[in-house]
Amino acid sequence: MIEAGVKEKMTTARQRGEDLARRLPTGFHGEWLAGEPLSRHVSFRIGGPTDLLVFPRALEDLALLVRHLSAQEAPYFVLGEGTNLLVRDGGVRGVVLHLKHFSRLQIVRLAAEGMPARVLAGAGVSFPRLAQFAGRHGLTGLEFAIQIPGSVGGAVLMNAGIPGRELRDVLESATLVLPSGLVEVVPAGELGLGYRSSRLPARAIVAEVALTLSTGDPVEILRQMGAQKAHRVRTQPKGFPNAGSIYKNPPGDYAGRLIEAAGLKGRRAGGAVISDLHANFILNAGNATASDVLSLMALIEEEVERRFGVRLEREIKMVGEDQ
Ligand SMILES: Cc1cc2nc3c(=O)[nH]c(=O)nc-3n(C[C@H](O)[C@H](O)[C@H](O)COP(=O)(O)OP(=O)(O)OC[C@H]3O[C@@H](n4cnc5c(N)ncnc54)[C@H](O)[C@@H]3O)c2cc1C
Repeated sequence: MIEAGVKEKMTTARQRGEDLARRLPTGFHGEWLAGEPLSRHVSFRIGGPTDLLVFPRALEDLALLVRHLSAQEAPYFVLGEGTNLLVRDGGVRGVVLHLKHFSRLQIVRLAAEGMPARVLAGAGVSFPRLAQFAGRHGLTGLEFAIQIPGSVGGAVLMNAGIPGRELRDVLESATLVLPSGLVEVVPAGELGLGYRSSRLPARAIVAEVALTLSTGDPVEILRQMGAQKAHRVRTQPKGFPNAGSIYKNPPGDYAGRLIEAAGLKGRRAGGAVISDLHANFILNAGNATASDVLSLMALIEEEVERRFGVRLEREIKMVGEDQ
């Protein structure tokens, strides 16, 4: 059941969204939802509504819309699959862009004579789906991605990976849409990819990527993917919505180990709880709000610094306004 206050917020957001939708540029193709609760679109299942959630049809539509919004100085934000995101309870003003239609997945060059294969993937393709696609075609280099949720676009922004393997290793270039609406293909080396981080040009949107992958042994590829899955089942909590690791690992240590050593496993705030299995995960154990999660984060940050002198750096991104 939706509470009265939440319903009112959704109605106001819907009115603002419908107003924004009326002013979408002529020639724009895509769908939109006004006043859409973002909790429906993120893995945490937390967060208020956005005014307008827009699904551009194609690259031209995305470029047209971004140019239009930039010219009006209107705020916009790109949502991937929302697996690394805490949306605040007041929701996100302005336009949220969703690239579900950017779903191209194609081998454009087969591996031959020492040359790796070249694969194109739209920003809206799911990262595990990309890994599966590569594996099915006997291409190695993306086995690590099989258990990393999210979209290809989000994986670029986060340089998603596991210890020892990350997207940077196989990324050749990314097609970016700049705030001016200009579309540019940027080599991976110029994207500033680091540990769960990137330095894309300001407000750039990833529309597509090109990856270089080598031919591998299909049996070995499947074996590695199976090993990734088994490792996840052993080490990560299941059953409650979450956003993966909340903090980056500090150099030479693990955020989860520090949070556990600070005695914080199992601590609760409202509907949010620090996982008993992996202390770097906060779970939405039932109707948690963003402010519940934020208060656990404040506790973690304060206690870990007080006890161990370590300032944890947040891995999850935050967006939106408080109530
Ligand atoms: C259970 C679980 C396990 C996880 N395990 C891992 C792991 O092992 N390794 C790992 O690296 N991560 C892990 N994560 C975190 C998450 O999967 C990754 O960070 C993922 O790459 C985020 O992708 P997304 O599409 O969900 O991005 P979102 O959460 O939607 O967005 C994250 C950021 O990327 C930006 N963004 C999204 N799409 C685009 C785009 N097209 N252009 C520009 N910016 C964009 C958003 O604006 C936002 O700032 C895990 C998450 C969960 C829930």
